[in-house]
Amino acid sequence: MARHRQLAESHFVNRIGWLRAAVLGANDGILSTASLIVGVAAASTTQNAVLIAGVAGLVAGAMSMAAGEYVSVSSQSDSENADLARERKELSESPEFELDELAEIYVKRGVDRDLARQVAQQLTAKDALSAHAHDELGISEITTARPVQAALTSAVSFSVGAAMPLLMVVVSPAGVLVPIVSAASLGFLAVLGAIGAKVGGASVLRGTVRVIFWGALAMAFTAGIGKLLGTAV
Ligand SMILES: [Zn+2]
Repeated sequence: MARHRQLAESHFVNRIGWLRAAVLGANDGILSTASLIVGVAAASTTQNAVLIAGVAGLVAGAMSMAAGEYVSVSSQSDSENADLARERKELSESPEFELDELAEIYVKRGVDRDLARQVAQQLTAKDALSAHAHDELGISEITTARPVQAALTSAVSFSVGAAMPLLMVVVSPAGVLVPIVSAASLGFLAVLGAIGAKVGGASVLRGTVRVIFWGALAMAFTAGIGKLLGTAV
């Protein structure tokens, strides 16, 4: 039963990590595209130009999210693999030293010396590398990096987020484009902020207010810049 509970918990953690990345990606997509649209629209160009800028923003953002995520997760994965290779070598060259090292880790965590030694011996007998990976390097199955999956998740969730303000450009009348895109995007951000807070087990109200505050600030800032440049040209 204890084993069953542990499995259920690790699935839960996994799901949170994945959902959290997707929510963050969508959040980025909404905010950066809405800001871009509001900035370009404030410079009083045509609806078509605003739409083109928005689509370009979606593609550029999705690609840059994917590339950034791929690079960061791959380098994490590279360093994990290098650590594992070094550990494997040490285990085959000096198994006694490695056993002491593992036992010492459990002693530091509060286990009696004799028991720690016993635990280390049994774990080493079962799968020495996995025991060292887990307790010495902090690499567990959950944190095992998957760069392609991470890149795809970010790109797709960013695109879905970015599509929302773009849709607003298409459906809103030209004269009220800025207020409609801003208000709708803040609404989308609020919903996502609430979902993100709920998923992460945090306060829904605080999560929502925070995301609305930063969203409004970003849009007001780019609108101001757009207006400034629009009148200067
Ligand atoms: Zn070791």
